[in-house]
Amino acid sequence: MTKKIAVLPGDGIGTEIVAEAVKVLEYLNADMDLGLVFEYGLIGGAAYDAHGTPFPDQTLALAKQADAILLGAVGGYKWESLDISMRPEKGLLGLRSHLQLFANLRPAILYPQLVAASTLKPEIVAGLDIMIIRELTGGIYFGQPRGVRLLDNGEKQGYNTLVYSESEIRRIAHVAFQTAQKRNRRLCSVDKANVLECTELWRQVVAEIGKQYPDVELSHLYVDNAAMQLVRAPKQFDVLVTSNMFGDILSDISAMLTGSIGMLPSASLDANGKGMYEPIHGSAPDIAGKGIANPLATILSVAMMLRYTFNRADAAERIEQAVNTALDANVRTADIYSEGMQKVSTPVMGDAVISALKEGV
Ligand code: NAD
Repeated sequence: MTKKIAVLPGDGIGTEIVAEAVKVLEYLNADMDLGLVFEYGLIGGAAYDAHGTPFPDQTLALAKQADAILLGAVGGYKWESLDISMRPEKGLLGLRSHLQLFANLRPAILYPQLVAASTLKPEIVAGLDIMIIRELTGGIYFGQPRGVRLLDNGEKQGYNTLVYSESEIRRIAHVAFQTAQKRNRRLCSVDKANVLECTELWRQVVAEIGKQYPDVELSHLYVDNAAMQLVRAPKQFDVLVTSNMFGDILSDISAMLTGSIGMLPSASLDANGKGMYEPIHGSAPDIAGKGIANPLATILSVAMMLRYTFNRADAAERIEQAVNTALDANVRTADIYSEGMQKVSTPVMGDAVISALKEGV
């Protein structure tokens, strides 16, 4: 049976890195008879330019009928002055919410070859392997009311709403506990329960759900402390679960622990395991078109796709191993380059992964 992948490269480096991930998938598709078919669509600024909207109906239709979605990144200087409703990011948020991709899994693994690329001391980060689970379809990024209003005194006032219902917290908590069960059985829930009522409810509901998972050790941290602990002693964590905005920020911190944001993949899953897979970084307009972006986060994202949506852990492991082998061969894109390494372009890094796959490691 064929499995359809909606490929949405988006903007900026999105097109460059997705091309490499598709190259890797195509190789494995032929080699392992995976039955994958690819269909391309537009999202973000590219969709706005072609259709006058960052989230065209045909893209939503394509994403709905696909078994999985591969996304590059959206955004760029060109579209920054558009009304917020037409900005590229609206396409991405629309996709996440229409498909109810509420569970965002963001592993942060430090490859031993990249210990020197982290800004933290080797003894702090060596061997790091944590999973951040971010709630993706609720919270302040979606809450209503929102906007900028004019006050009676003539001053403008911006406002957003942080809102979570119990059911939204429960479903992400279940994902987090079940993920912890498959790892080292430790879960830390991150909130700001001392100040925000909404996250006080978050803490209560997570604790309640925790009673169903007595084999998982649950702890709670306030987000400011969690940010500090991630930099002070990140290896104390196994799985972290948190709200949309806190997860956005904490996972970027964990990106730096691993050396580069260009190394971090993600999966965004619905209740049935259908998913959208994308690197955690953005469209990097500062380096777009230069052929120097790191494609490994996107390549590792398709490994997550094979594991989580297509249940092909064997194929996923081949990709992860091939990334390891490519790094062992000392090829590095600029973001992870250090002295003595061979600096390579985006496509050459993709080729290195394919060579490693061919070597059959
Ligand atoms: P960014 O992640 O695009 O870039 C941050 C920094 O990391 C830049 O210096 C960039 O060059 C570098 N970088 C990112 N990915 C890299 C890679 N694969 N290889 C090498 N270096 C890489 O974040 P930003 O600069 O804050 O945002 C740029 C645009 O991306 C904005 O329009 C923003 O809204 C959008 N954005 C999109 C997504 C998404 O599509 N999921 C996520 C974040 C930001």
